Amino acid sequence: MPATTSVPPPAPHLPRWLTAPGPGWTVSADAIVVGSGIAGLTCALRLRERVDKVLLVTKTVLDEGSTAWAQGGIAAALDPEDSAEEHLRDTLVAGVGLCDEAAVRALVTEGPDRVRELVALGAEFDREPDGEIKLTREGGHHRDRIAHAGGDATGKEISRALIAALHRVWDDPGIDVIEHALVVDLLSADDGTVCGVTLHVIGEGQIDGVGAARARAVVLATGGFGQIYTSTTNPPVSTGDGIAAALRAGARVTDLEFVQFHPTVLFLGEGSTGQQPLISEAVRGEGAFLVDDSGVRFMQGVHPLADLAPRDVVARAILARMEQTGADHVWLDARHLGADFLEGRFPSIVARCRELGFDPATDLLPVAPAQHYASGGVETDLVGRSSLPGLYACGECSCTGVHGANRLASNSLLEGLVFANRIADDITARVEAGELPQRDPGVPDAEADQLDSTHRLEVQRAMTAGSGPVRSAESTRTALAALEALAALPPSEAAPGPRTWETTNLLHLGQALSYAAHRREETRGGHLRSDFPDRDDERWLAHQVIARSGAGGIEVAERPADPAAYVAPGAAS
Ligand SMILES: Cc1cc2nc3c(=O)[nH]c(=O)nc-3n(C[C@H](O)[C@H](O)[C@H](O)COP(=O)(O)OP(=O)(O)OC[C@H]3O[C@@H](n4cnc5c(N)ncnc54)[C@H](O)[C@@H]3O)c2cc1C
Repeated sequence: MPATTSVPPPAPHLPRWLTAPGPGWTVSADAIVVGSGIAGLTCALRLRERVDKVLLVTKTVLDEGSTAWAQGGIAAALDPEDSAEEHLRDTLVAGVGLCDEAAVRALVTEGPDRVRELVALGAEFDREPDGEIKLTREGGHHRDRIAHAGGDATGKEISRALIAALHRVWDDPGIDVIEHALVVDLLSADDGTVCGVTLHVIGEGQIDGVGAARARAVVLATGGFGQIYTSTTNPPVSTGDGIAAALRAGARVTDLEFVQFHPTVLFLGEGSTGQQPLISEAVRGEGAFLVDDSGVRFMQGVHPLADLAPRDVVARAILARMEQTGADHVWLDARHLGADFLEGRFPSIVARCRELGFDPATDLLPVAPAQHYASGGVETDLVGRSSLPGLYACGECSCTGVHGANRLASNSLLEGLVFANRIADDITARVEAGELPQRDPGVPDAEADQLDSTHRLEVQRAMTAGSGPVRSAESTRTALAALEALAALPPSEAAPGPRTWETTNLLHLGQALSYAAHRREETRGGHLRSDFPDRDDERWLAHQVIARSGAGGIEVAERPADPAAYVAPGAAS
């Protein structure tokens, strides 16, 4: 029996701004792209060819971000035997009824051409002896459709190729790039139109410290927020800055509660925090399988695809087995694949495991789920427009409707690629049509706040215990109370700076996410409620759309799911 509905806790309150000095300098462009992963680089490169001036800013250096860490590959129906329709079906099934069918259709039909363009740009994918791109399979896919590079270094190669393309146009006056530039907040005109960003640059000369960048359009491509949890596969820059800034500025943020916990992250002991090594799903795609402490292959019988079931199914089965056996991890067995194969196909994973004292060719690998991917984010339409005029979002920080309640493996690189192109085309057309005038920002007179960076681990612990892989009414309520107590701390004496801004962004997103997780009283995709263990299509075939009201309170509206994306329970086989 599921638990009964609980009295909701009070809605969190968010400030409009992070505490920061006023801008000491100003730059202007037609479009600002924030972030240099696959989404930001693709968008900036395409915009450069079409508008007079693009400004690309990135928090640290160009190749810092999740993109460079992607292992498995990029999904696209490149095999003549495969089809966009089949890719669509697998994506809808993984999304458990909450995808937007039109967004998925755009992804799967345009995906193959976008991947070919990436190849034309210089990305070198692994090839068959006949020269065709090699394709493998990952969880939830019913076809071999994952293109990969350097065995398990796909993201590194894509990032290299995009950055090389950027270097080829580095001196072009149509594009400016600023590294070590952390976007703090979004600037809005009096009617809410986004017309720029405030940013903190560690630079030299005039562009140093906090400044303002003004533009006709701002594209957020700031990636995910894995650092909100104590352990994640995401790199340190993944602190959800773009989503948090959009939320503070009043944008609609959707599906935040759907967080993917990757089933097979190398388990390095209870106290390990921060970015953890991922053992790609492709290792199971090549035949590795999960076993418990007694050597039982527990995925068989759980799902028709067994070890290659969608990620939420595998993560949930692992957590259930860990609970049954009292263990803090299970094991991945890849030994039968042999040293030669493993070293050739997964050179980076094998090297990293060996560095840490595990040899996949001879040892069972201890694995446990850890945060991996944010399915929700800034809500966008099919051309990447958010609910705020002038603001676009692309890649992992966006919620295009492609992933629904759970992302299908290797669809995220593809999403960045496909929607970056769509956004660049839309901005170009609107600039040409005179629809995106430069606007003046209003005077920032609303409240500002910050949480000192010394509290980061407290935010992460509250989120992991309360709104982590397994949630309940009680756990999310406890998380909300802990975060509220941190939000209510007296203003810190410390001067604001990057680590403080990131920590405050984690706090704001944690509050919004926990609130959404508390409200959704069912289990679906990346949202697992121990007190509501079943999917509830009657009540919850809907998205939770979060927005900050003018007075600062978080408001949640429910938007019905797209009926065209409905997937009947048990449709996974
Ligand atoms: C270990 C790992 C393996 C993965 N494997 C795969 C895979 O095989 N296939 C797949 O499809 N997906 C995979 N993913 C997911 C995929 O890599 C990401 O979803 C995708 O790369 C996101 O791209 P992005 O451009 O949106 O963001 P990112 O690549 O994360 O880039 C975000 C950028 O924004 C910048 N930024 C952030 N905040 C600010 C700020 N305040 N100001 C300025 N700049 C900012 C960052 O520095 C960075 O440049 C994997 C992820 C991880 C972590």
